Amino acid sequence: MTDPEKHIIKCPSLVCNELYYYVIPRSFHILMTKEFSDGYIEFIPELKKYPVASRCGICGRFFFVDKQPVIAQFQHSLVDEFNSAKPLPALSIEELFYMLSTDIITNRHDKIVLHRFILFSFHKFVRYSGKLNFSPQEEILYYENISKLIEILEWPHANPKNYLLLSELYRYKKMWDKSLESLDRVEGHENFKAQIKAACLAGNSAVFFVK
Ligand SMILES: [Zn+2]
Repeated sequence: MTDPEKHIIKCPSLVCNELYYYVIPRSFHILMTKEFSDGYIEFIPELKKYPVASRCGICGRFFFVDKQPVIAQFQHSLVDEFNSAKPLPALSIEELFYMLSTDIITNRHDKIVLHRFILFSFHKFVRYSGKLNFSPQEEILYYENISKLIEILEWPHANPKNYLLLSELYRYKKMWDKSLESLDRVEGHENFKAQIKAACLAGNSAVFFVK
């Protein structure tokens, strides 16, 4: 078995040299995954996929992890020069919403990536229970995030590759007819489609593990 690879990146602020590292899953781990209906892939054993976005713990700068140049990579432990590198700080849902309003978001793609990451962050708490157990305030933000993502994906018209995701987003909002309408437009994915359809017909609006 090969160990996952560690990547080193630097905080993007020009006046901050803080180093961070994250772990790239190797092929061994990629074979051992679970897929959920929102598109989230969980690695097994407990190897967490690195976060889409993070925030420097020293200067507070937000950044997209994939947009930062990798300055070094290691198979095992870090060499002395990079020993000060810390794991990427995880963002709270409030911080992710705040990030949406910053100049880090430069285009439509950035918005979609962040709204999807917010969706994953909400679903993190309910992936296995199948129950949306949010506080009233969280529930408002949960549905606001989904509505905004639908708006972006539908404007000016939906890309066919997003019909499956749109079907799921409408299902989370309990808009069963819209969910089934989008599902009808999806080509392939027959097994997954059948499971979404069954969930709609059963009045189930929760994310689920794709069998
Ligand atoms: Zn920084």
